[in-house]
Amino acid sequence: AIVCVAGAVLFLLIAVWISWQPDSETEDEFVSAIRNNEFIPYYQPVIDIETGVLQGCEVLMRWRRPSGEMVSPGQFMTYAETSGHIFEMTRRLMVQTLDDLGDLYEKTPDLKISINLFAGHFKNRQIIEDVQDIYGDSPIALEQVVLEVTERQPLHDINAAKKIIAEFQSMGVRIALDDVGTGHGGLAYLQKLGMDIVKIDKMFVDPLGQETSTARIADAIVELAENLGMGIIAEGVETYDQILHLRRLGVTAAQGYIFAAPLPAEEFLKLANDLEEG
Ligand code: C2E
Ligand code: CA
Ligand code: CA
Ligand code: CA
Repeated sequence: AIVCVAGAVLFLLIAVWISWQPDSETEDEFVSAIRNNEFIPYYQPVIDIETGVLQGCEVLMRWRRPSGEMVSPGQFMTYAETSGHIFEMTRRLMVQTLDDLGDLYEKTPDLKISINLFAGHFKNRQIIEDVQDIYGDSPIALEQVVLEVTERQPLHDINAAKKIIAEFQSMGVRIALDDVGTGHGGLAYLQKLGMDIVKIDKMFVDPLGQETSTARIADAIVELAENLGMGIIAEGVETYDQILHLRRLGVTAAQGYIFAAPLPAEEFLKLANDLEEG
């Protein structure tokens, strides 16, 4: 009888556990997509707007379904992050950048490559080991790597994040604050965390040239970044007028559709090659 009851209890527990798995279909599909390397890097060029020279790129993840359909991060990143799969996905993404861009970066040591991280990456040292393992002795040098941390998500443990950032910097890796002015940290993050680069969000680039208060936020971010001795990259640049205004503000690095959308590796390499030839 005891065996019977124990069996029934076990069966019940398993049934409850299974029914609690929120979306086991999504989960299975996601895991197999990761294993099949369906999550791939696209590369958006970052351009020096004074000289037109390529400065590097930002790596933006895409889900290439077996059907050929391309899915944007807006549709899967929340799941990737909450499920914890993002850690493995980010590792694979970084490994793929070596296959794609290793040759170019090895022969062009000035080029930078930006990888997007999420707040969860700054909770422990695993990400330091990942970056060290992947780029530590590779054609892409640690000095070429920039890690972007978004201000949209709160960094719950500021002290842990600060230590991780400092360790990256001692390795030669730079840290950029993404989406400045749109989220949680704001000025406190810049000052407390000792970031190297500020990225001006499209939200503040869009109104450049208009006589609105939002248009003046870019000015304020630039001034603050300069006072803190930080580099600046403007994103979401779509018009020539915006380039002129950014130049006037003293911003030298920008990315946006006016130059190029995020590109598959071959197209990015072709663009890098064309720019080099002038
Ligand atoms: P983000 O890091 O702020 O990236 C900039 C987004 O703006 C990208 O969208 C890019 O394609 C888009 N963009 C660039 N230039 C222009 C422009 O001139 N006009 C317009 N309208 N859009 C432009 P995307 O690729 O859909 O990525 C969305 C967000 O997903 C990213 O925002 C980033 O937060 C997240 N993400 C992308 N890849 C990764 C990743 O590998 N890891 C993590 N944790 N997050 C990622
Ligand atoms: Ca970014
Ligand atoms: Ca090397
Ligand atoms: Ca951004």
